[in-house]
Amino acid sequence: MYYRKVPRITNLWSKVTDGEKGEWLSKLFIESTRPFEHSLIRVDNEVIIIRCKGVMLNMPEGKISINDGLVREVCLKQDNSDSTSIELFLDQPAEVKLATLEVFPFRLEITLDRSYLARLFSGKTVMIDPAHGGKDTGGQGAVSLMEKDVVMPIAINLQKALQRAGAKAVLTRNGDEDISAKERFEKASLEKADIYISLHTHACADSRVAGAATKYLANSDDSTALATYIQEELVKKIKVADRGVAEELEPVLPVALPAVEVEVVTITNIVEEVFLRGLTIQKRAAEGIFNGLRDYFAVRQSDLKVN
Ligand SMILES: [Zn+2]
Repeated sequence: MYYRKVPRITNLWSKVTDGEKGEWLSKLFIESTRPFEHSLIRVDNEVIIIRCKGVMLNMPEGKISINDGLVREVCLKQDNSDSTSIELFLDQPAEVKLATLEVFPFRLEITLDRSYLARLFSGKTVMIDPAHGGKDTGGQGAVSLMEKDVVMPIAINLQKALQRAGAKAVLTRNGDEDISAKERFEKASLEKADIYISLHTHACADSRVAGAATKYLANSDDSTALATYIQEELVKKIKVADRGVAEELEPVLPVALPAVEVEVVTITNIVEEVFLRGLTIQKRAAEGIFNGLRDYFAVRQSDLKVN
């Protein structure tokens, strides 16, 4: 039958990777049963459409969240029986290139340059505080997971992401040591950090309570803005209940710079405790916080241009 001969788009996936010349790239791969005609339309800085002719979708129409720091989402549409559009929604402007890979399945490769993101983070110093440590275990889950242990891999993932983006990222502790809040703040001041992010999990006597929250220090509007951006992007990325943003009343944050406390999930909720053991959430939580920092620095940069 004729329809069997029409190429079908069967899969879409993405990755963040380094180019051959050390460029920092987002890549999207559209897989299909056979090659098809395509053309690129740049709608504006943040929207790109790829019109594909003679190809049908063999996967659901609609939006796919990417949130890799540059590509927010991709929308697949079957325009009519022989044309499909792939719409890319970006968080910032980026150069885009298309290439075809004659392999099976056939691949259309979309490459986007992440250098705008790198410029945003260049010259910034972020102090990351994996909270608690040593005898101070922090909160504890029913199955024995400890807050002091779980904040560490998230902190390291966040540090790596920031370093790849060209920022300086320093941890307040590198091992399982119990250090005072004062020592943590002194390290931030020694590093002349631009912002301070303390990583925690929430603990609650009621084991039904779940979700993420971000607390800000009421020392400046910057702290409030930072908490709002991080909370929004974190919840988007790890898809847990949104416990919102709130003022931090405990003396766990330094007053000298914009500072927030992120409660990534609730460790006393059994579902989230199990979830927290996974490498995926540890990485995704860091990506969500990274995306919140991106929004913070992007807005601060545009404020500077206006003034
Ligand atoms: Zn804590």
